[in-house]
Amino acid sequence: MLLVSACLAGEPVRYDGKSCTVSLIKSLIAQGKAKPICPECLGGLPTPRPAAEIQGGTGDDVLAGRAKVIDSNGQDVSAAFIAGAYQTLKIVQFYQAIAIVLKENSPSCGSQFIYNGQFNGQKRTGLGVTAALLKQHGFEILSEHELEQWYANQKLSLGSC
Ligand code: SF4
Repeated sequence: MLLVSACLAGEPVRYDGKSCTVSLIKSLIAQGKAKPICPECLGGLPTPRPAAEIQGGTGDDVLAGRAKVIDSNGQDVSAAFIAGAYQTLKIVQFYQAIAIVLKENSPSCGSQFIYNGQFNGQKRTGLGVTAALLKQHGFEILSEHELEQWYANQKLSLGSC
């Protein structure tokens, strides 16, 4: 089983109430090979919601209390992001996911890049909060940009739910 960012599956759960659908992910869900998950929704945040970025570090730093997730209104939403990450971890562990496909650049889901915390559109290397927690627990995480190649390399068929 794959777990995937819900916004990549077409669910309108992004901060702006939109999605960013990837057709392969929709197809995998329809085949019962993937399940959608939104860490920020699981953390109790509404949709739509203010944009948020990590200030002072990366997702690992937020988990360690060295950095914060701040929204565009200046509110500290770190607790919701951390709660969503741990809820996601429970679900990933329940399904024993073989990999988790996460939306790049998100302060929760980014697996290689996140925004730099200045709300200026610039990115930095680093993981989002959920991506960092899943990686700390040994799960394979990849972005939507890596999925097609990863899937093509799989020789085993994915189990259905
Ligand atoms: S938290 Fe992840 S799944 Fe939810 S909207 Fe943001 S990028 Fe998509």
